[in-house]
Amino acid sequence: MPGNEGGGENPPTLKRSKNDIQGNTDDGGGGEQLNNGYLPYFKPDYKRLYPENSGKVEFKVFVEQVDPKGKLGNKSPIFLNHIFTTDIKGVTAIQRVNANKIAVVFKQYNTANNFLNNTAFLTKYNMKAYIPATQIEKTGIIRFVPANISNKDLYTKLSSIYEIIAVRRFTKKVGQERVPLQTVSITFLSHVLPDNVQYDLFSYRVFEYVPPLLQCFKCFKFNHAAKVCNGKQRCSICSGEHFYKECDKPNDLCCANCSGPHLAISKQCPIKLKKITEKKTNITYASKAETRKVEFPTLLDQTVRLPEKASKSKSQPQKNVPSTATPAETPKFDIKKELLQNADLMNALVSTLIELANKTDSNPITSSSIKDMLIKNIK
Ligand SMILES: [Zn+2]
Ligand SMILES: [Zn+2]
Ligand SMILES: [Zn+2]
Repeated sequence: MPGNEGGGENPPTLKRSKNDIQGNTDDGGGGEQLNNGYLPYFKPDYKRLYPENSGKVEFKVFVEQVDPKGKLGNKSPIFLNHIFTTDIKGVTAIQRVNANKIAVVFKQYNTANNFLNNTAFLTKYNMKAYIPATQIEKTGIIRFVPANISNKDLYTKLSSIYEIIAVRRFTKKVGQERVPLQTVSITFLSHVLPDNVQYDLFSYRVFEYVPPLLQCFKCFKFNHAAKVCNGKQRCSICSGEHFYKECDKPNDLCCANCSGPHLAISKQCPIKLKKITEKKTNITYASKAETRKVEFPTLLDQTVRLPEKASKSKSQPQKNVPSTATPAETPKFDIKKELLQNADLMNALVSTLIELANKTDSNPITSSSIKDMLIKNIK
């Protein structure tokens, strides 16, 4: 009934090995009823390292305590500053990511890579360090891939302009079994996705991968995991402050998020549906901006006009203005021209895009957060 185990009753589950930070070699792991050919396949001996010519200006390494109870993100800055200036070279900043995690920022790719191998330091403080996947990898999906081709075969056969480092087949739970689907996720060693991957002569179009919405299995709110949850334990059935197995009102459905008559994990929940839509929209915006297909999303389009129009059009709705409809009072405003001629504006946009692309915290990207970023960069 209330599917509280593991990742919940997700639809086609992409078997992501989130914690499998350095990327397991070979197709081991997982187990369960799934035929080996459908377990995630990783490039053998792959280890995440910063490449030499990434064009990045900073190099982030995430650091956690090996003991899952050690809350490195909550440690005193005095302590963190001390150990990272005394023992480690080339650190330019330390940031809190969440209670468990900090990001240590390096100026050079090689000092960041060296730090990963600094076992003396890491053992001394009982820490583990890794490069977050989003810094150097990008995952896309391809569709209509016959289910009888194993992940390993795909890994061997597929080629692209960017190196492929992982292949994972989407699967679906049918009764007790996991059934392979025709959708496959491909992880590339790149910031951006290629348009296509080739299987011999056949070309698959690569689509953006939208990861499933993360819902906490402790408090049932969104975009954080139970292991970093600061909220109270809630019941997925009645929303009371207890674990669902201890629920004494199993017929009294009350969603912990919206108080509606459904389980807190239900897809009927209007709040959950809204979050899912938001996530899809934001990823589309971010990826368009990232790949710089020049068609800036309408969102940015409107934001750029903001400073100029702010005083006049306070009462006018800013949303839902089609990007092509130029407001009557500014018929001459040409965004392309403005962008090309106004170096400050262009720099602000580029900085915002870089900031978005390098974003590693778990806060969701929303239109208002992008707006804030842009306005901050314009000033
Ligand atoms: Zn929570
Ligand atoms: Zn309950
Ligand atoms: Zn609900």
